[in-house]
Amino acid sequence: MVPKQPNVPKVIVQKFGGTSVGTIERIRNVAKWMLATQAQGYQVVGVVSAMSGDTNRLVDLATQLNPQPWSKEYDMLLASGEQVSVALLTLAINSIGGKARGLLGHQLGILTDSVYSSARIKQIDTNIIQAELGRGVIPIVAGFQGVDVENNITTLGRGGSDTSAVAIAAALQEKGVVVDCEIYTDVDGVYTTDPRICAKARKLDTITYEEMMELAGLGAKVLQIRSVELAAKYQVPLHVRSSFDPVEGTRVVSEGPVLEQVVVSGVAADMNDAKVTIMNLSDRPGLAFEVFEPLAKASVVVDVIVQASATDKDGGLSLSFTCPKLDLPRATEIVETQLRPKFPKMQITSESNLAKVSVVGVGMRHHPGVAAKMFGVLSEAGITIKLISTSEIKITVLVDADKAKLAVERLHSAFDLDKIS
Ligand code: ASP
Ligand code: MG
Repeated sequence: MVPKQPNVPKVIVQKFGGTSVGTIERIRNVAKWMLATQAQGYQVVGVVSAMSGDTNRLVDLATQLNPQPWSKEYDMLLASGEQVSVALLTLAINSIGGKARGLLGHQLGILTDSVYSSARIKQIDTNIIQAELGRGVIPIVAGFQGVDVENNITTLGRGGSDTSAVAIAAALQEKGVVVDCEIYTDVDGVYTTDPRICAKARKLDTITYEEMMELAGLGAKVLQIRSVELAAKYQVPLHVRSSFDPVEGTRVVSEGPVLEQVVVSGVAADMNDAKVTIMNLSDRPGLAFEVFEPLAKASVVVDVIVQASATDKDGGLSLSFTCPKLDLPRATEIVETQLRPKFPKMQITSESNLAKVSVVGVGMRHHPGVAAKMFGVLSEAGITIKLISTSEIKITVLVDADKAKLAVERLHSAFDLDKIS
């Protein structure tokens, strides 16, 4: 289970999520695990999230005072959760005979831009980390936080500790250090589909960065999507695994020849979708901009878009798009107020109980016919497709939410995902 001791010390960045440090008992276990990894001959860097529930509690406190609390001080507040877990884990390691040092974002020089609540890391100074590692110390770094050029505390967006861990691993790798980045969470890896929807879901040994990005974007909440983008960009080896069970998890890797054999790696379902259709529009340059710009300004996340010309009886143009179910009332209202004056004959219809079901796999690039097969499977199951959208490695269909489970199950077996051992 634990690999052999390497000749040159390899650095393992171990990131522990909120549930993994959710109680004192769990923090103790993390401390022991880190020391055991160090005893194997590795150098260990810890990155931690706030104890589970803490960040939500802080969000709640702030929003009681102001429903739109976004500001420097909001980041200052949210970042405090990680300060607690860093300190506790460091205490835990030091109290059982290990050597650890807690480090907050500003102490390390995790420099970000000033986009509060979703800051991006620009630079990480690895000197302190490397000096501590050289002395046999385990640096325990606060995830999720950094500082901007004016020394204000910034945060990286919810789930951002994953990104902190990958960024630290990438910065060390840039210095020529051999790294591995382990993300410890409450599930033991990445699954072919959501085990709560399909009992036959299987854990994947490997998945590519690209597939992971598609799945993370589809609501598979194992990793913050930015962390995967960063890992892909710097080719940081990622290992998603459980902090409660020492078995191998899922490795996120680059696309290789072996992986190309697999056509579909995962089936994702996003149950909370809605569709808006606008009919009787007249075609003119800039129409799509007129429709989608006000939606974007109102932060409505529009996903699949389909435009069809001359389909109405009047020979008009129709546009459909999907958005999260929660945003549907706002989306229809915006379309109505913005477009009605320009297109008095326009008709708006919407449907809210929809699900987006997608199959994802880099193997699609080399295997034609995946879309046809998917449509065949759904048709055999009597499932109506309401919208289709495809990319190089993903095919998405919109179906009635109450058919999503069936769709996932049928696709999961049709693409042989049940058989992964
Ligand atoms: N504590 C932060 C959050 O809950 C960051 C993280 O957990 O990754 O979003
Ligand atoms: Mg997380």
